[in-house]
Amino acid sequence: MAVLHVAEEELALVAAIRELAQERVKPRAAAIDHSGQYPWDMKELLAQQDILAMPFPIEYGGIGASEQAIVAAIEELSRCCATTGLILAVQQLGAMPILLAGNAAQKRQYLPKLASGEWLSAYGLTESSSGSDAAAMQTMAVRKGDVYILNGSKRFITNGGLAQVNSIMAITDRAKGTRGISAFIVERDYPGFSVGRIEGKMGIKGSQTAELIFTDCVVPAENLLGHEGDGFKIAMMTLDRTRPGIGAQALGIAQGALDLAVEYAKQRVQFNKPIAENQGIQFMLADMATKIEAARLLVYNAAELIDRGEKHFSHYSSMAKMYASDIAMEVTNDAIQILGGYGYITEYPAERMLRDAKITQIYEGTNQIQRLVIARALLTGL
Ligand SMILES: Cc1cc2nc3c(=O)[nH]c(=O)nc-3n(C[C@H](O)[C@H](O)[C@H](O)COP(=O)(O)OP(=O)(O)OC[C@H]3O[C@@H](n4cnc5c(N)ncnc54)[C@H](O)[C@@H]3O)c2cc1C
Repeated sequence: MAVLHVAEEELALVAAIRELAQERVKPRAAAIDHSGQYPWDMKELLAQQDILAMPFPIEYGGIGASEQAIVAAIEELSRCCATTGLILAVQQLGAMPILLAGNAAQKRQYLPKLASGEWLSAYGLTESSSGSDAAAMQTMAVRKGDVYILNGSKRFITNGGLAQVNSIMAITDRAKGTRGISAFIVERDYPGFSVGRIEGKMGIKGSQTAELIFTDCVVPAENLLGHEGDGFKIAMMTLDRTRPGIGAQALGIAQGALDLAVEYAKQRVQFNKPIAENQGIQFMLADMATKIEAARLLVYNAAELIDRGEKHFSHYSSMAKMYASDIAMEVTNDAIQILGGYGYITEYPAERMLRDAKITQIYEGTNQIQRLVIARALLTGL
């Protein structure tokens, strides 16, 4: 069994989250998927239990959890409901630019309300014509006195319109390429900020994915993160640290599918015996479990490298996210096969798990992009 290298208290916290997820989150998952509404009750639960406080330092109202504990928490929540696991993952994603590059005043202003769960955060990098090629963004930020004026839009933003705090990347100097991109904290209430289309989706249906529109949006100059031109670096450093969380979401979905398949195989009788007594089914279950364990080792390893403050870890984050999401697709597909017709119908959660798993191969960089990151590290010797 993959081991978390964390203190006893964090192991106890993860065990408590596992229990909470099984008791309080799992019974809600089907209804969240069915309604497609953001699960405010789940957000409140995570806030009350200090789970949303995990990614934040104690001095800013958080509980300063290790990355290993955070990925384990995302895994346990996603094992029961991928949308609920994403609430924690995105709270960390949207806040990470502030955690990494915010000054003391910015941290004091924003982190406590994110740690308590009073406010949600979002991360705005993608635009309608720039996804994998994020540097091709068009949103502009022009300095006018003591404010920046933002014009443009962001597409596919998780928590878009729900988040009070948005970490937004925009161009401040087009001639400088990636070094002309800057990062800003943009509050939802700033003049010129509006929400465009809200996407209908295949999975993670309770998570809101929206377009953010900036029309002469007025952002105080003190909301610049770091210096002008730091934005692309901040955006990439953020993803390096949050991709293991998406790996953990995928891992949790896969584990939930295996749990289901094992239980089902033990009780489903065909040809006068449980289907689990067939070696063909046993081999499928064994392969599913082995892939999950391999993915868990990669996810824990990437998180541990982050906890240790390793410098060159980004390809390990990519491996964790890529492998865990690829096997989540395989394992959820196999779970459907083991449930047969019952796997295909919406009465059972197997089909939801497959739909939820698919996004983990796409967001925070598609798995093709993760392979580019890994290959670059190999070829440059990092
Ligand atoms: C539900 C959802 C939530 C999201 N949440 C957020 C969010 O909170 N914040 C945010 O900023 N973004 C978010 N995204 C955006 C997401 O990160 C992008 O969709 C993703 O990075 C891919 O970009 P794209 O969709 O434009 O695809 P494209 O970049 O157009 O890619 C299309 C295909 O081409 C492949 N491809 C592209 N370039 C290469 C290459 N060089 N080599 C090989 N293959 C390549 C891709 O892998 C993919 O298969 C979200 C997306 C979704 C669907």
